[in-house]
Order: sequence, then structure tokens, then C-alpha cells
Amino acid sequence: STERPRVSDQDPEEVLHRVFGYETFRPLQGDIIRELVNGGDALVLMPTGGGKSLCYQVPALVRAGTAIVISPLIALMQDQVAALKELGVKAAFLNSTMDFEQARDTENALMTGELDLLYCAPERLIQPRTLDLLHHASISLFAIDEAHCVSQWGHDFRSDYLELSRLAHEFPDVPRIALTATADERTRKEIAERLSLTDARHFISGFDRPNIQYRISPKTNANKQLLDFIKAEHDGDCGIVYCLSRNKVDNTAKLLSDKGYTALPYHAGLNAIDRARHQERFLREDGVIIVATIAFGMGIDKPDVRFVAHLDLPKSLEAYYQETGRAGRDGKPSTAWMVYGLQDVIKLRQMLEGSMGNDHFKRVERQKLDAMLGLCEVTSCRRQVLLRYFGDTLEQPCGNCDTCLNPPETWDGKVAVQKALSCVFRTGQRFGVTYLIDVLRGSENERILQSGHQTVSTYGIGTELSANDWKSVFRQLVANGYLRADPEGYGALQLTEQCRPLLKGEVAIQLRKDPVVKASSGRGSSG
Ligand code: ADP
Ligand code: ZN
Repeated sequence: STERPRVSDQDPEEVLHRVFGYETFRPLQGDIIRELVNGGDALVLMPTGGGKSLCYQVPALVRAGTAIVISPLIALMQDQVAALKELGVKAAFLNSTMDFEQARDTENALMTGELDLLYCAPERLIQPRTLDLLHHASISLFAIDEAHCVSQWGHDFRSDYLELSRLAHEFPDVPRIALTATADERTRKEIAERLSLTDARHFISGFDRPNIQYRISPKTNANKQLLDFIKAEHDGDCGIVYCLSRNKVDNTAKLLSDKGYTALPYHAGLNAIDRARHQERFLREDGVIIVATIAFGMGIDKPDVRFVAHLDLPKSLEAYYQETGRAGRDGKPSTAWMVYGLQDVIKLRQMLEGSMGNDHFKRVERQKLDAMLGLCEVTSCRRQVLLRYFGDTLEQPCGNCDTCLNPPETWDGKVAVQKALSCVFRTGQRFGVTYLIDVLRGSENERILQSGHQTVSTYGIGTELSANDWKSVFRQLVANGYLRADPEGYGALQLTEQCRPLLKGEVAIQLRKDPVVKASSGRGSSG
């Protein structure tokens, strides 16, 4: 077989970022990948949509040689290969749909070590000819997808799958991973036995963390909200507060310290000694609050973290889940608490559009952010939304998230939304939310008079709502993609294609009524 350059010193995280454009591993993905990269076997049970593919795709790129993926569904195989090719990964498939020449080209590519992944139907794989080829190639791993097909008890039994146990004996040094979304304990045992995976580590994931209470509130005065929350519910508890910037980390740690809490900052701008010391104190002492950027948390396994607070919106549900997941590892009641506002949405959208990534990368990031915002604005059970995103299901609303405990009221936003959108339009899509609200509420400030906007038709037509209510309307419009912040980064709001039917008043829209907040001291940090 042809020698390939060894690439096993590649870092799985780096591959995740560079090739797939994702921020973080989902739960278990990292552990599974490490197991395979180190040459171990794995049996993976994860819900559909949970992210099984990455569990072998990343090791396929980290380990030297070609990964053989056995998949019974030809259409799926073709989709995956197409998607991988689009990402620049060298992938191909072998199945019954190809003619002789196509198959021969693919086999040649395998033999010359040009492939990172080769997808193969089971009946094809077990042909003596194919096995012979594999023996002469360099194989990095075998991935057996839909592994429950080996079970005679299930609906999907395929006799070809039984033959796959040969891989264990014929390729004893090649790590194998079997994956399935449906397997009770008996089936799992059957899979392990029939595929000769009795030494494989089992990775079983549902995504629910029932002891974590999820809560997300609109930001009014973030600092006061945080202090109130900790004082009322977690006084003296150990917790993590996440902020986006180093500056905010420092300020927030100081704020909490001034109130008598043991709060320590943690971010990449601190020197290594301070970082290590703060982390150490967080791990060893009781009741320490660590205030951190996302730099903190990798590999932190402290069981009794009672709360995780977010003062800034994470970029994706993966990040949110991972960060909040650091709470309550001991299974005791814990809180995942977050405040977010219009400025967060605008900032994240701008960071994303201004980033260096290619179009594919940005499209993915945009979808991730939309899902995150969807969770913020949802009026039904948050846990159900979160779990559905990871392919897991929860039959009933959880009863342990804020929307379950205090179902948010909604109101008919049709007219308000029409007014808000026309105001954006009439003022030329050049202004930020504060200005727009001033116009809607008929303020006589100088900027408006200078621009002559006291004469536009939307001037003063919005006095029925308070400035805070309007902020909530605008936030929901941006969160739901009807408005976007200008790409230049001045915070001007612009209409999107999507808002047309709303602008014309053709469709109904229900808005979330933000919880009434007590008049807060100090000025609101953002809306
Ligand atoms: P499964 O095979 O378990 O049904 P997939 O591998 O098809 O799930 O993944 C489902 C979706 O989740 C895909 O759109 C994939 O891009 C996305 N995904 C998987 N892992 C991650 C991750 N670490 N970060 C972000 N998105 C991910
Ligand atoms: Zn709920």
C-alpha cells in the first residue's frame, strides 16, 4: 500500500473549526473522537440529529489512511459524500448504482491513498474482492452506521450486517465505531456481540439535563438583574458568569466582589499564573464565582456548580448547551440563567457578517445564531426546543424552565410591527433603535428635527407603547430575521426580504410580552 503522510498530530478541535466550521463539540463527540483517534473501539447511541457523523468524520481526517464507512442507505451515503466534498474533504462511495468504470476509479483512489473517507454498502464491503482491496490499502478506521441493522429483533435487520464481525478478525489493529439512534439495552448488547465489539467503550447520550432550570430574560439592567438573581437564589453558591469581552469580565468580577462575593476573573488577557490560581480556587474552595469569557471551562469538571449565568448571548445552541451544562453535574437542582437584549443580537450578527469566514461558514453560523435566538424568544417549553435541536425528544413540557413555570403572554403585534417596519423604511434604513423609537413616539429631539423626520408619516404614531415595549418589538423583529443590523456596524436597522408580508399587514404576528420588570435603579445597560 502507498504511504500517506502521517497526520495524526492534527488536533480534532482544529479539524472541527477549520474543516466543518463548528465552534465546539457536542456532548460526547469529543470523548468518542478521542477514543477512536487513540485506536480504541466505540459503540455510540445518539438521537437522530445528534451529530453522529462527526464522530467518525473527524477521526477520519485526524488519523492516517482512509476511513471506511458502512452505511445501508444509498441516498444518505450520496448526500454525505456530496456534503463532504463541498467542505473540501476527499470522500467517495462504492455502491451498486455505479458502473464498472466509476467503481474502478474509486478503488484506484483508495489504493493510492487519495481518499479520506470511503462510504460503502455492506453487501459490497463483504465481497471477497473488496476485502482483498482493503487489505492492500491503508485503513484508518471502520465506521458502521445504523448498527442496529445487525439485530434480528429489530425492524431493520440486514443479514449482510452479520458478516461485518469479520472486520474485527481480519483487521484487528483498525479501530471500529458502531453507531445507532435506536437501541435499547438488549439491542446494544446484541450489537456489541454480533459485531465483535465486546471491548468497545459505550457512549450513550440523551441530551436532557433535568436538574438544570433554564431561564432567559430580556435585559433591562444586566448588573442589577445578575445581583438580584444571585442574592435571591444562589447566595454563597459556586457559579460561573459568562461574558463576551475581557473588559466586561473584569467589571463584573469587581461588581460582585464589591457586594461581598468571592468573584474571580478568568480570561485570556490575564497572565498564566493568575489564571491558574483563579481556576484552582474555583475548584478547591466553596462558594467561588468565576467570571469568565468562553476561554474558561474546557475540561473543568466541578460537580457542584449551582448556577451558570450568561450576561451575553452565546453564538449557538451548542455553545449555550455546553456552557450551561457545566452546572449541576452532581444532579442537584441548578440554574442556567441568561439575560439578553437587542444590542446582543445586533452585536453577534455584526460580528458574524464581518468575520473572515467563507459563505458556507457564514451560512452555517447564521443558522446557528437563529436557533439560539429562537430559544430566547420561544413561548413554549425551552427544554423541548433545546432537545429537539439536538435530535432528542421530550414528550411533555418540562415544568422546570421559565416558560413552563411562568408562561409568557403574547399579544397581537400586527399593527405595532407594521408601524415599526414603516418607520425604518420612512427614515431611510439609516438609524438605530433609539432614534426609531423617538420618531415613533414623536419626540422633539434635535436630531429628528435636523433630519426633518417630524414630517414623516410614522412620526408620533407609536405613543400607545412605552419606549421599553418598542425595544421589545424591535428585538423580536431582529431576532426573527425581519430586520437586520447594517453590515457597516453602525447599528442602523434595515428591512429584510422576509418582512414584506408583515409590512403590508398581510400576515398576523404574535409577539412575546416581556415580563414586567420593577423600575430599576441606574440606567439600563441595553434594551
Ligand atoms: P445524526 O447522524 O446523529 O443524525 P448528523 O451527524 O447528521 O446527526 O448531525 C446533525 C446536525 O448537527 C448536522 O446538521 C450537523 O451539521 C450538526 N452538528 C453536528 N455536530 C455539530 C457540532 N459539534 N456543532 C455544530 N453542529 C453540529
Ligand atoms: Zn419547560
